[in-house]
Amino acid sequence: MQRWKRWLLIALAAVVVLGGAYIIFKSDERVDVVLDPGHGDHDAGAANGDRLEKDDNLALALATADLLKQQGVNVRLTRDDDRFVSLKKRCSLANRRHATLFVSLHRNSAEGAKGVEIWIGSENDPASRALAQAILDGLDAAGISKNRGVKTGYAQGVGDYYVNKHTRMPSCLVELGFITSDEDNALYDAHLADYAAAIAQAIHAQLPEKETTAQAGETTSAAE
Ligand SMILES: [Zn+2]
Repeated sequence: MQRWKRWLLIALAAVVVLGGAYIIFKSDERVDVVLDPGHGDHDAGAANGDRLEKDDNLALALATADLLKQQGVNVRLTRDDDRFVSLKKRCSLANRRHATLFVSLHRNSAEGAKGVEIWIGSENDPASRALAQAILDGLDAAGISKNRGVKTGYAQGVGDYYVNKHTRMPSCLVELGFITSDEDNALYDAHLADYAAAIAQAIHAQLPEKETTAQAGETTSAAE
């Protein structure tokens, strides 16, 4: 083999190996928070006429993620467009990335009901409770029809609440008003930016100080 060809092959091999290592390293990069807009694609979630829960969840998640990024928080979304992602994949993303916090965004559904409630998995989970309470306090201040409190357990079944059970970090699931309530929908549309700001602020406040200051500069440092 000609000398230059050998060098070319070595150079190409180096590119492949280093590129692969970079991709693997990046995929394990630690994140501060995983934001999880519920549902997507054929899984529309709850509905009220043409209004679909999956779209409301995504709009709020994108707005919240923008604010968190501006604050130097390393945030990942389980989806950033209208696609289907299994509950298992949502959890494994957060677990693989060693997310410090996990926040799932949903809207509720029940005839005649209104207001905001936030679910955590277990009674004995002070970090999840603190996260949920901080978000609920912020949303309450931004303007909601009714504060239904922080609730524990998995409601009627696995469903949306799967994510609280299968993520290995403090997590909560926000049921941001009832999509079946015109009053809640009007509030949602009027206060979307305020809700995003409240959630972003609460998440930021629940992150350990060192993480966000470190992340604001270099994102690929010595995170385990
Ligand atoms: Zn939902």
